[in-house]
Amino acid sequence: MIVGLTGGIGSGKSEVSSRFERLGIRVVDADIVAREVVMPGSFSLQAIAERFGLDILSQDGSLDRKKLRSLIFENPSEKAWLENLLHPIIRKEIIAQLTHSESPYTILSSPLLLETTQHELVDRVLVVDAEENLQLARATLRDESNTEQIKKIMGTQMNRSTRIAKADDIIHNHGDLEELEQQVQLLHARYLELAQHMKN
Ligand code: ADP
Repeated sequence: MIVGLTGGIGSGKSEVSSRFERLGIRVVDADIVAREVVMPGSFSLQAIAERFGLDILSQDGSLDRKKLRSLIFENPSEKAWLENLLHPIIRKEIIAQLTHSESPYTILSSPLLLETTQHELVDRVLVVDAEENLQLARATLRDESNTEQIKKIMGTQMNRSTRIAKADDIIHNHGDLEELEQQVQLLHARYLELAQHMKN
């Protein structure tokens, strides 16, 4: 059984992921995969450097993600080009990692689970939800970013009610980390049961 975990920036996905990992559950993280597929020497990085020029690389030859982000932010056709290149490659790598998982069920954590075809890979959708003010405050603190940048990112993401409408399960992350832990443990017990049923 594969559970897709998603939520807006600062909602608490990483906190939730690490708690499931501590319970022995394999978490495939789409953000990590997205970084892996553009490692130096990869086909994707070569294609990106050909498209945007060598300036898109940092001195050590790795992708300057910040520069790329700012290049595509206000350029929809370049953004589409990049997504057409990377999404199928990321999807393929996610499938490979999911296939290799050996835990009783597996989590696919992805901020873009519902915006891409990644949701087709999961049996259930788990949404981590927090009010926008909390998302903003927590993400700002974590990234040492300014509020405006975080607000911009939130503006490009699916809104809370649309995301929640697509959820099978919801973690309400409005309290402290103790409350978060309790919700994860309850879900873990439920998922173990569901996974067992799916096997039979
Ligand atoms: P996401 O991965 O969804 O962007 P994170 O899990 O990184 O969000 O959470 C954003 C920040 O808020 C992190 O620094 C995290 O430790 C903190 N955080 C998340 N949930 C809580 C909570 N319930 N109480 C206090 N801090 C939290």
